[in-house]
Parts: sequence; C-alpha cells; structure tokens
Amino acid sequence: MVIENKKIAIVGGGPGGLTLARLLQLKNAQVKVYERDENKDVRVQGATLDLHEGSGLEALSRAGLMEEFKANFRPNAGKLKILDKNLNIFLDEHASEDSYAEDRPEIDRAPLRKILLESLQPETVVWDSQFISMEQQNEGWLLHFKNGKSYYADIVIACDGANSKIRDYLTDIKPIYSGVTMVEGNIYNAETNAPTLWELINGGKIFALDHNQSLLLSTKSDGTLTFYTGCKTDEYWTKDSGIDFTNKQQVFDWFKKDFSFWDKAWQELFESDEISIIPRPQYHYPPDQHWETSSNLTLLGDAAHRMPPYAGEGVNMAMQDAYELAECLTNEQFKDVKSAISNYEKNMLKRASDITKITLYNTEILHAPNAIENLLKMFQGEDI
Ligand SMILES: Cc1cc2nc3c(=O)[nH]c(=O)nc-3n(C[C@H](O)[C@H](O)[C@H](O)COP(=O)(O)OP(=O)(O)OC[C@H]3O[C@@H](n4cnc5c(N)ncnc54)[C@H](O)[C@@H]3O)c2cc1C
Repeated sequence: MVIENKKIAIVGGGPGGLTLARLLQLKNAQVKVYERDENKDVRVQGATLDLHEGSGLEALSRAGLMEEFKANFRPNAGKLKILDKNLNIFLDEHASEDSYAEDRPEIDRAPLRKILLESLQPETVVWDSQFISMEQQNEGWLLHFKNGKSYYADIVIACDGANSKIRDYLTDIKPIYSGVTMVEGNIYNAETNAPTLWELINGGKIFALDHNQSLLLSTKSDGTLTFYTGCKTDEYWTKDSGIDFTNKQQVFDWFKKDFSFWDKAWQELFESDEISIIPRPQYHYPPDQHWETSSNLTLLGDAAHRMPPYAGEGVNMAMQDAYELAECLTNEQFKDVKSAISNYEKNMLKRASDITKITLYNTEILHAPNAIENLLKMFQGEDI
C-alpha cells in the first residue's frame, strides 16, 4: 500500500473528510482529521440530505455503516410536493405509493456526522483546528492552525468545503458565479413558528417555483424547517443590496418586497425570531478544470467541485470521492502516491464535470418562466 507509514492529514470533518478517514482507518492508515468546529456538538446547519445508490449509500456500505444508517434515516422525509407561488399543487408524493424519493433515502446532517464520527478511532478528529496555511517540509507539509498549533503530515487531503483554503496550493482556478444567490433559513420549532407551512410540508419536501424564483423547503427530525430561497441576482448582491444579513428585520423586509407576487402564506418563512439566516451566492468551477497532480496533496468534495445544490449531488459526490480516493491509496495497483492520486483525480474530475453541467442546466431551468413544467418533465425523463 503506497501510504504505508505515511501520516495523512485530512483537513475538514464534513461528510467527505469523515468518510475518507473511516475508510482509510479500515486499512490501518495513520489519519488525523483537523476540523474548524470547536467540538462534536456544534449545531450542523443545512437541509436534510438524500443519499444515492452508487455514491453516498455505496460509501456507507464500504464503510460498514449501513446498519447505523438504517437506524437513523427518515423514510418519508423525501416525499415531495411541487407548488407554484399561489400554493397550487402540481405533484404530491404523499398522495401516491410511488415516490421519486424511495431509492434516495434521507438523513439529517447531524446524525450522518455522528455515525461517521463514532466509527473513527478515539482522538482521530482534532477539533478547534482552523487551517490557516502550510509550507513544504521534507517530503510533506507543515500545517498551521488558527489556534497556534502546527502539525506535520506526509500527505494532505483538502476536505475543507466550498471555500477551501487549501485549494490554492494546488490550483489557481477560481470559482465562477452561477447567476443565482440563495438565502438559507433554519426556522427552529417550526410547528409553532411557521404552522401553515409546517402542515403543508407534512414532514417531506417542497419545491415551489414561480416568477423565476425558487423556494426549497425541507424538515429535520428536530422540528426545524430548513429552506432556501433562489433568485437570479448579480454576483455581489449580498453586499450591494445593502441588506445587513445579521439584522433579521432587514431580511424579512427584503423577502416581503422581492416575493410580493407570492401568496401570503410564504411570509411565514421570514417572520419568526427563532431563525438563522445565511446568504449563499452560488458558485461552480469550470467543467473542464484540471491541474498538475501533486505527490502529497489532493482535493475532495466541495473543495474540488463546489456547485449549486440543484441536482442534489454535493454530498453524494463528496462521499464517492472519499471511497474512490481511499481505494486508490490502499489497493496494491499503484507504484507510488502520485500515481494513486493521479488516477483518483482523473476519474473525479470527469465525474464532477458531468454533474456540474447537469447542475448548471437544472439551475437555469428551475429559474426559468416555465420552471414547474420543466421540473415535471425532468422527473418523467422527458425532453425539456
Ligand atoms: C444551500 C445548500 C444546499 C445544499 N443542499 C444539498 C442537497 O440537498 N443534497 C446534497 O447532496 N448536497 C447539498 N448541498 C451540498 C453539500 O452540503 C456539500 O456538497 C457537501 O456537504 C460537501 O461535503 P464536503 O465534506 O466536501 O464539505 P462540507 O460539508 O462543506 O464540510 C467541510 C468541513 O470542513 C470544515 N472546514 C472548513 N474550513 C476549514 C478550515 N479552514 N480548517 C478546518 N476545517 C475547515 C467545515 O467546518 C466542515 O466541517 C447543499 C449545499 C448548500 C450550500
């Protein structure tokens, strides 16, 4: 195995980094995960995730964690309703036995993280370790963290997400703005704080599309309603709009104005004080990106191929990257680390290119005038 006796630093303990750590430990590799979060109990933001056959589920299966997954997944959380701005329903999976969601089981981000963390050897994750910089030392890297500590690793794997600080050490390819900015909201105790929408969503998901705008809603098992608005805006709208996103009332006022064509029921999204709000301009990398392979550094997940979430593939890709990289680093096929990384990157970049193109297409058609018709045709496998 090309990583025999090598120290591996995984930077970032998201689904990609933790899956990789687990798979490498199953092969007795020396692994540390350096994670920015203060500890394992930090609240994990973001919507529930659907895991797919051949990627996210395959990763858990290879990690020997399917039993834990089955004990934590949420059977009806993927049931979808498609609505327009006036709450007219165009599809309701709650009403039928058939469901697009059935072979894409949902799990909340927090239990997924817990399952992966509990599968690791004690002390694998070094919490409160925000990566700042690194420099070449001997055959590897000396990594520096915000807490003042530094650690050496022979191989560094960047799993530090969409705003990766390590990516620049491998490539200067910059992200491209997709044309859409999302605003993420998490309404806690939503049964009380957004009762009409809580009843409407019925424990599943809502895609509401109209007026070249989107509202994607989902539930979490702790009673949170997570949602994303999607609007076509300029790249720097978050700043240029003058909205202070730490001031809830300013965001509420923006929504009232920008979504004034929508039924009043949607206003519940921006009314409660028990809400967290994060603006998220959506970027992607060029589908034909590539870089010169390094012998001691590579990227995985969003750090390698961030993209808008409109194909629902991000977490699945990160977990597939993890098992493909683990396989390359631990099988006996390659003569050295560089050849193993090269093989992984070739396949990963091809796969990411295909999914990026699909994602950009979805981003466009879901924010077009006939978005609902487009989405229904897409689900039925028809040409748009
Ligand atoms: C609004 C939105 C909605 C989405 N919806 C979906 C969806 O429905 N389905 C889906 O499959 N995907 C979705 N995604 C994408 C999905 O969340 C990501 O693709 C996936 O989480 C990528 O996993 P990752 O491990 O590469 O990175 P991340 O999950 O981002 O994890 C990165 C980790 O690195 C840590 N970190 C960051 N910087 C540092 C640093 N400097 N030092 C140390 N640690 C660091 C972070 O704290 C984090 O734990 C969505 C994303 C967004 C933004």
